[in-house]
Amino acid sequence: MSTQQPDSLVKVSSEVVVCAKCRLCETRRNAVPGEGLESSKIIFVGEAPGEQEDVQGRPFVGAAGKLLTELLASVGLRREDVYITNVVKCRPPKNRPPRKDEAAACRPYLDRQISLITPRIICPMGNSAIHSLLDSDKSVTDLHGMPLESGQVTFFPMYHPAAALYTFQLRKVMEEDFKRLKQLLNDLK
Ligand code: URA
Ligand code: SF4
Repeated sequence: MSTQQPDSLVKVSSEVVVCAKCRLCETRRNAVPGEGLESSKIIFVGEAPGEQEDVQGRPFVGAAGKLLTELLASVGLRREDVYITNVVKCRPPKNRPPRKDEAAACRPYLDRQISLITPRIICPMGNSAIHSLLDSDKSVTDLHGMPLESGQVTFFPMYHPAAALYTFQLRKVMEEDFKRLKQLLNDLK
């Protein structure tokens, strides 16, 4: 008989904070496992922690995170109502994009988080998360705001909130996408 503990989000997080499966462990201050509601119907997936996230060990707590929090609030959601994480759990040096081998090394943690939360909607934010989660090489420009059903789960690609910090018009686009997302959430059976 197996005496293995059942998997849990706490277990995933405790493994992530000491993980040394890729070179990003050498330069991180804190790994950033993710946070939010275990029973959330929705999970937001960004690219990788930035500087503030690396300092605090929490996802989306810098400028992009402030915008994400505001976008959630604009449709009546709080951060505590959803689950927020990243494809890669440690900050790449100077915020360079994560490399393929780093994303591959980290992927099992995201897969376990998704299995444990069993969300109905997965929102990959930005090209990095879109390409990592969807079997598509299309860009966020083509895919954002459109639900893609895949078995039990619906993918809802979005722009990365950081993009809206650089391109002001994108904020309006993201607000519209969040309204659609809220509708999708309300329509879940
Ligand atoms: N950008 C990301 O992709 N993730 C974070 O957690 C913060 C900024
Ligand atoms: Fe481990 Fe992921 Fe951090 Fe690499 S990025 S050290 S795989 S937690």
